[in-house]
Amino acid sequence: MKQKSVLIIGAGLAGIAAAAALARRGLHVTILEKNAHPGGRCDHFSREGHTFDTGPTLLIMPHVYEDEFAALGASFRERLDLQRVDPTYHLVFDNGSRLNLTSDLKSMEDQLEQIEPDSFDGFLRYMEESGQHYNQAMRHLVDRDFRHPGDFFNLRNLPLLFSVRPLLKHYQHVGAFFDEPRLKAAFTFQDMYMGLSPFEAPATFSMMPYTEMVHGVWYPKGGLYQVVEAVPAIAREAGVEFAFGCPVERIDVTDHHVGGVTLKDGQRIQADAVLANADLPYVYNELLPPEKTAQKLLNKRYSCSVLSFFWGVDKVYPQLAPHTLFLSDNYRENFDAVAHKMVVPENPCLYVHAPSRLDPAMAPAGQDTLTAIVPIGHMIDGQEPDWRALMHQARQAIFKRLEALGIRDLEQHIKFETCFTPLSWRRRYNLVKGATHGLCHNLTQLGYLRPGNRHARYHNLYFVGASTRPGTGMPTAMISARLTSQRLIEDLG
Ligand SMILES: Cc1cc2nc3c(=O)[nH]c(=O)nc-3n(C[C@H](O)[C@H](O)[C@H](O)COP(=O)(O)OP(=O)(O)OC[C@H]3O[C@@H](n4cnc5c(N)ncnc54)[C@H](O)[C@@H]3O)c2cc1C
Repeated sequence: MKQKSVLIIGAGLAGIAAAAALARRGLHVTILEKNAHPGGRCDHFSREGHTFDTGPTLLIMPHVYEDEFAALGASFRERLDLQRVDPTYHLVFDNGSRLNLTSDLKSMEDQLEQIEPDSFDGFLRYMEESGQHYNQAMRHLVDRDFRHPGDFFNLRNLPLLFSVRPLLKHYQHVGAFFDEPRLKAAFTFQDMYMGLSPFEAPATFSMMPYTEMVHGVWYPKGGLYQVVEAVPAIAREAGVEFAFGCPVERIDVTDHHVGGVTLKDGQRIQADAVLANADLPYVYNELLPPEKTAQKLLNKRYSCSVLSFFWGVDKVYPQLAPHTLFLSDNYRENFDAVAHKMVVPENPCLYVHAPSRLDPAMAPAGQDTLTAIVPIGHMIDGQEPDWRALMHQARQAIFKRLEALGIRDLEQHIKFETCFTPLSWRRRYNLVKGATHGLCHNLTQLGYLRPGNRHARYHNLYFVGASTRPGTGMPTAMISARLTSQRLIEDLG
């Protein structure tokens, strides 16, 4: 019998993991990637001995990677050299106070009680409840292949309305455990990683601080890009073919089927199925014939974006931990500012990553590799902001916040700078509106309510990745890959 073929558009983590799963089941799989190397948003670069992860910097939910690697016949622990990062984050507040989030409960008790008396009890209650959120949400919302509305809207799922609290706002709900605004911020800022505001995110997302505390935040030697190095290796072992520098121009369709793709250089490639890993709203709007859904997707809610600065620095700043977060007293204003406007918030919350604390090889001896990330609104059609002015504003905000740690001379010690703006995210990876996490994860865009993994009309066209189900994040990308590849295999028979 002729071997069935699948074309995958995009070598992001979800595309590669899906490719490996499909090839292991005997399909002929080719990945077409516009860029020169795999990984998509999970990217990196090196310069003058400094190595930067330009996308993810936090490996969370290690057990999900373990399971997904095992499903691909590989051992996660054997392929990566992992260390746990504890304390995970060093939080710095506007008034100079600090909180190091750690799995050491005695240290947590001492620190929390100093900030708010009796708050350790609130912390333990919060962790207990968020553990339930984690377990329930992973089982019923994340690791689920919703094929029909009835899979989601049914009586069995009704208890979820109470058990994972999707109807309560996260920030409001955290008030049941803490009064002190600094602690409310400390246990909700993780929503930012989903591109969400805690003032809008469902309380379900307390699952994020839970998993970071309990399952840990980890770091692979060599940085997060090592995960990307590992997954294509598994895919190649399974027989997947990669074509880099190969932008797809359009998906070729007939009435209810796709027949293959046409590349930018005009070459046509046929296949029995196409799986799109490129950002889903981009695929509907740029690669498929015009249809109403495409416009509807553009009107959905998008995550915010970020301005990322990558600095090679000629001295070491030991005051900076691996993951330092500066949380602002203007917590709400921060999120409101970036929800609908292309602005940098005043006094922004911001994140600084110093990878050589975890792996000295990430910077030359006696020097530092620093990444600083400031949230910014996603791009708005028809508006061309003054990027230089926004970058200047964000850079100055970072320098100002670093003064709280006694760092006053960073500007003089930067050897080189690379900056990613929303425009970079759009150009490099075709992310619609430059939204770093794609479609956002508010209540009406969660679970089954996110765009599905198979096209409603073209039944041999599938989607994996951040803007489809289950959603953003590296572990989630691998789950998306497994669920969708299973469905594709069933459909192709
Ligand atoms: C700044 C930032 C920080 C993050 N931090 C974390 C973190 O700490 N931990 C975590 O777990 N997650 C994090 N994430 C989220 C995580 O990176 C993403 O959810 C995940 O990598 C998405 O993978 P994907 O496969 O869905 O898509 P992508 O990575 O977007 O891959 C899609 C691929 O399709 C390619 N493509 C697009 N158009 C075409 C075309 N026409 N032809 C051919 N190829 C095309 C793109 O070039 C890209 O390679 C972060 C993301 C960002 C941006």
